[in-house]
Amino acid sequence: MDRIIRCITSNGAIMAAGIDSTYLVATAQQIHKTSAVATAALGRLLTGASVMGSMLKKTNATITLKINGGGPIGSLTAIADSNGYCKGSVTNPGIELPLKPNGKLDVGRAVGNNGLLGVIRDFGEGEPYIGKVELVSGEIAEDITNYYTRSEQIPTVCALGVLVDKADVRQILAGGLLIQVLPGAEEADIDLLEKNVNKMEPVTTMLAKGMSIEEICQTALEGFKMEILDEYKIGYACNCSKERVERAIATLPEKEILSLADEEGFAEAKCQYCNKAYRLNKSDLKRIAETAKIKK
Ligand SMILES: [Zn+2]
Repeated sequence: MDRIIRCITSNGAIMAAGIDSTYLVATAQQIHKTSAVATAALGRLLTGASVMGSMLKKTNATITLKINGGGPIGSLTAIADSNGYCKGSVTNPGIELPLKPNGKLDVGRAVGNNGLLGVIRDFGEGEPYIGKVELVSGEIAEDITNYYTRSEQIPTVCALGVLVDKADVRQILAGGLLIQVLPGAEEADIDLLEKNVNKMEPVTTMLAKGMSIEEICQTALEGFKMEILDEYKIGYACNCSKERVERAIATLPEKEILSLADEEGFAEAKCQYCNKAYRLNKSDLKRIAETAKIKK
């Protein structure tokens, strides 16, 4: 079972969230049939969204991360709720690219760095909060770090890792770490944190060694006293329904909905996040066309 834990140093200087998102990323891979590099790209974004979602502190709130960097993968979307459950989609899940000279998946090239990272926080009431920053590298963790520094002025360290087995792409290890310096932090706290972060191994290396996310957070916060604030069980979850599909179709012009009803006799719509197919028959379409007419 995947989890997030959030820790705070006892002097209130630093918050660290650790996430094991292995099953979440494996589920995304099964749904979207992603190649190795697309699994890593979508997996990193989902892992980041899940942690950021768990920090929303309000029931029914959601966070959406959107990346379009002009690379061959197209655009990536991840949406998480305040419990860390999330779903995602990618334009070109089958994209294959040569490995980087160091043998790593070339997420930065797949995503591209000519575009934006958009972050939308929706609290279920009022206008959603929208933030946008230019992409730094398309490697995603770096882009999220840059988002916090530039858009929210919160000094942040973000590490996201997805390890995909070269022989069997279904063998996955995924996780991440998000560390934030809180307003009460002193110079010495920041120095110590920097020292720890600089000597830290990649998250997936630590997970592969069998380290728990508690141990990973302890490594990041070595030399500090820390306590665990909370723990969330997380996973891949889609909340689509026939009603949502109907609402989407109702935004089409009435004439178009009626022509679907009369010419095809039915319409089929697939959820872009979980691939579930919804079939609407002729009478459904006529009813939706009526609502579409009333709205105009
Ligand atoms: Zn769905």
